[in-house]
Amino acid sequence: MIAVLKRSASQEDKDQVIEVIRGENFEVHPIQGVEKTVVGVLGDPARKSNLKEKLETMGAVEKVVLISDPYKLTSWNFKQQKTVVDLGDGVKVGGDELTVMAGPCSVESREQIVETAKIVKAGGAKILRGGAFKPRTSPYSFQGLGEEGLKLMAEAREETGLKIITELMDIEHIDVVCKYTDIIQIGARNMKNYSLLKAIGKLDKPVMLKRGMAATIKEWLLSAEYIMNNGNHNVILCERGVRTFGEETRNTMDLSSIPLVQQLSHLPVIADPSHGTGRWELVTPVARAAVAVGADGIMVEVHPDPQNALSDGPQSLKPKNFNLMMDEIKAISNSLQSFESKERKIAYA
Ligand code: PEP
Ligand code: MN
Repeated sequence: MIAVLKRSASQEDKDQVIEVIRGENFEVHPIQGVEKTVVGVLGDPARKSNLKEKLETMGAVEKVVLISDPYKLTSWNFKQQKTVVDLGDGVKVGGDELTVMAGPCSVESREQIVETAKIVKAGGAKILRGGAFKPRTSPYSFQGLGEEGLKLMAEAREETGLKIITELMDIEHIDVVCKYTDIIQIGARNMKNYSLLKAIGKLDKPVMLKRGMAATIKEWLLSAEYIMNNGNHNVILCERGVRTFGEETRNTMDLSSIPLVQQLSHLPVIADPSHGTGRWELVTPVARAAVAVGADGIMVEVHPDPQNALSDGPQSLKPKNFNLMMDEIKAISNSLQSFESKERKIAYA
């Protein structure tokens, strides 16, 4: 960390700053420039942001800059092998194969979820998605079937052998959601719900953490740190687009975050072009692009009858289009393997 002192700082001010830093048991390395003094600070990284705030209250300090990244457990420094989340029965996220999670936005009925499960399984998906507790913008919109929806998902798993992923919204629903699901989804709206993140950090259940709609990469990774530093290291990240000034798409799909996060972190990254675009015609092209930039998998919404879906029909693929998307992303994924060696994928370490 470095502290830049103001041009106007007197010798007395500089001595005071140095005294504060030493008083907190950090090493001080002042560099006297022609116009300004810069103070290098060495010591315990965990206590640096506290010291930073203290220094920022001092009148002689212009700015304080943290040099090293705040990520610990999510970073390649902590672990040099890529994280592979193993769900059993050969289903993995972050391994050599692209993993597809597909299904409706919400579980609506037995017929709907079982039919969709069969369709996505036949197309090559390994994980069935479906919301039972839905975070809806309006309290008047369909809120999900709750535990009944989870039971229906479990039935669809029985019938197809697919693994399941569903959203957990509240601490009070941890037990019921964990009873049924293979992966807990933390949605964009809860990415900064730190009490929820701490609570799922104590569980022995894989988690997929979606990026908040206004979250920086740093905030996203720090939310993953909350889960990991409570003990749960089976974390998958999911880019689902961020809010921008654009009105033509529901969100702006930030494809560059995928390789960027992979450079910073060993955690697998899934792309969700359904929420990322909000429009079914854009889902397949953006899924192709996400695979091309190196996503470890894709999550898409699929509905047998999008027109009558209880949520997110406009961004749901019909079965036929889902199959086309699968053919295309498989082809892209296979072609990537021919020039992107595994070594290159982890060369960022
Ligand atoms: C979802 O996946 O159904 C969902 C609500 O997504 P997000 O949290 O990304 O909005
Ligand atoms: Mn949805």
